[in-house]
Amino acid sequence: MKRILFFLFAVLFVSACTKNDESAVYFTDQITPEGFAKVYEKISNELEGKVGVKVHFGEEGNTYYVKPDLYKNIVLDCNGTFIETNVLYKSPRQQTESHIALAKSHGFTYAPIDILDATGEIQIENVEGCQHYNKFYFGKNLDNYNSFLIISHFKGHGSSGFGGAIKNISMGFATPKGKLAMHRNNFPVCERSRCTDCDSCVLECPANAITSNPFSIDVEKCTGCGKCIDVCPNDALRYPKDKQDVQTVFCERLVEYAKAILNRHEKMVYINVLVDISTSCDCSRNPGKPFVPNIGILASTDIVAIEKASHDLVAKIHGCKDPFLEAVKTSGLRQIEYAFEVGMGNKNYRLINLDTDETTIVRTE
Ligand code: SF4
Ligand code: SF4
Repeated sequence: MKRILFFLFAVLFVSACTKNDESAVYFTDQITPEGFAKVYEKISNELEGKVGVKVHFGEEGNTYYVKPDLYKNIVLDCNGTFIETNVLYKSPRQQTESHIALAKSHGFTYAPIDILDATGEIQIENVEGCQHYNKFYFGKNLDNYNSFLIISHFKGHGSSGFGGAIKNISMGFATPKGKLAMHRNNFPVCERSRCTDCDSCVLECPANAITSNPFSIDVEKCTGCGKCIDVCPNDALRYPKDKQDVQTVFCERLVEYAKAILNRHEKMVYINVLVDISTSCDCSRNPGKPFVPNIGILASTDIVAIEKASHDLVAKIHGCKDPFLEAVKTSGLRQIEYAFEVGMGNKNYRLINLDTDETTIVRTE
């Protein structure tokens, strides 16, 4: 009898370990309202009370932001409110009124819009495990919500390699003061021998920080967004010599802001949309061409697992381990590693394909 009980206990123990060792990530290749409904069904149980739906409204002129009609049904299902914060640089998205007007012109008309920092700022202090900050600044209205649906366009980003869920809740929930704190000291330099004075960077810079004749970057105005690097046709603009360190620190800063908000609001679920995977982000008017074909939609309750799975799928299609380092010249892998190190989630995951019912287990250690 004892042996039977021991055997049963061992089976249960192994089974529990196996289940808990990988986080579930759901996938469909249908980038349609039906595809959104499929993945949403798997994570929507976590949503309760007043639901904030974090999206990106798309910069003026950007056409790659995820179109709101694709996820209209799920936002209506959870009675969600679109939430965003004002940006740091010169744009209609810098002021609440023009920000909302731009969102509406991009089709975000079927749910209320709340610009979280329109009424002020909340400060979060002393988040355990963070080495870069002891104070974090977020939009005040965040605390009006009980749970969050984070819908992120997974694409390239000049400073962080890629932008997904981590960037969406860190930069996306921070006030301009918090955004500046993350970008600070992230200024590009120009290799003049490569520069042809084409002025592309001058026109692209959202902070009006670059002047030509003579060429200069005003570090008082520069927010370190990296958009000038993305548009330069001659690779003349780069982060300074210690570029690796600058990028590593920027990725870690994003993660710490994400951790601070997750410590305060645990009820968050994530949908990453792998469509129009361009080299620059939705804040850019000229985000560059997609460098891999469209892949699909992922959903999870684990922010690390969904970022890892999204990155792995892009890597697989692109045929290399670090696709954003190749395509954007910046690796985003530190985001995933550091988020795991500070305890935000699991790098091991089960990719559950809802189209084929196949499950793939991906373990990294
Ligand atoms: S990084 Fe480049 S584009 Fe961005 S604010 Fe600085 S100078 Fe302008
Ligand atoms: S985009 Fe590049 S080549 Fe053109 S002005 Fe700027 S640094 Fe020079």
